[in-house]
Amino acid sequence: MIDVKNLTKYYGRTLAVDDISFHVSAGSVVGFLGPNGAGKSTTLRIITCFIPATRGGVSVDGLDVFKESIKVRDRIGYMPENVPLYPEMRVREYLMFRSALRGLPRQKRSAAVDRVCEQCWLSRPEDLTRRRLDQLSRGYRQRVGLADILLHQPPVLVLDEPTIGLDPAQVREMRNLIRQLGQNHTVILSSHILAEVEQVCSELVIIAGGRLVAHGGLAELRQRVTGPSRLVAEVKGAEPAEIAKAVAALPGVSDVKHSQVGNWTRLNVASQDAEDQRSALAACIAQKGWQLRELRRQVASLEDYFIQITYQQSMQRGMLQDKEAADE
Ligand code: ADP
Ligand code: MG
Repeated sequence: MIDVKNLTKYYGRTLAVDDISFHVSAGSVVGFLGPNGAGKSTTLRIITCFIPATRGGVSVDGLDVFKESIKVRDRIGYMPENVPLYPEMRVREYLMFRSALRGLPRQKRSAAVDRVCEQCWLSRPEDLTRRRLDQLSRGYRQRVGLADILLHQPPVLVLDEPTIGLDPAQVREMRNLIRQLGQNHTVILSSHILAEVEQVCSELVIIAGGRLVAHGGLAELRQRVTGPSRLVAEVKGAEPAEIAKAVAALPGVSDVKHSQVGNWTRLNVASQDAEDQRSALAACIAQKGWQLRELRRQVASLEDYFIQITYQQSMQRGMLQDKEAADE
């Protein structure tokens, strides 16, 4: 449904998006995840024809966003980071005005507005359609923003940080709403909070420093991080290399790294599967007559993975920029 190919965007000399490619298939709900400044909004603005790319291209439903932007806009409902609303208008009045702007025939506007108000819980359980926009909470204003982009019934929804600034109850409501819309739309939603997208998305595209760092199904990415388990142990009683060698010989152990912490040898032990080898390791140390002062199992979470890969990417970018600065 959405094809992003080698997308690159410079703002003057700032490289905001660096050669990103990914594909979103029809019907999926994709989380576009990355820390602040990663290039999420920039990518989404290009996908939705709001700004041009420097290099590379995007197609939506087979249509090129640069050459056929009018048709692309027809197929996309785009909710930007800050939803612009006219504060003095009332909800229904605003949505009627928007449906006129979108070119909906006059006789269809009222029904369309009723439909989106229903879809975004603006008419039920409480009727908010006659409220002034500046009297609505941020959570409700976001819902009006969402109602607005559903007026022309686009198959694709692009939501830029739709839950930013909402309180926890409003976040949950927005999330439920998006989940519901995900049943019959292709959705791409950005966030800088993993927990957020984990709840609604089946797929993740992770970017950092303008680069794509991971893309895959949620289950697949989770497996990637929780695959092999790791043990951390601190041992004393022999030469570090000898300790590492003894531990490496244990069944199921695939890799042992060691370092020194004072006169203790710190081991980082990877095993082939998720099996817990703490007792085997403790028995081995005891049998050798060595001392053990720490033994714990580390199971990486998707959150650890997210932080690790985005941090690595920012470090690399930081170093590159330093190098460029030094070259100049
Ligand atoms: P995100 O949405 O992931 O927080 P953005 O796409 O907004 O990231 O920004 C990516 C990078 O591009 C940042 O370094 C930001 O400062 C820069 N940037 C964004 N918009 C502009 C702009 N209009 N002009 C110059 N630089 C910009
Ligand atoms: Mg943004």
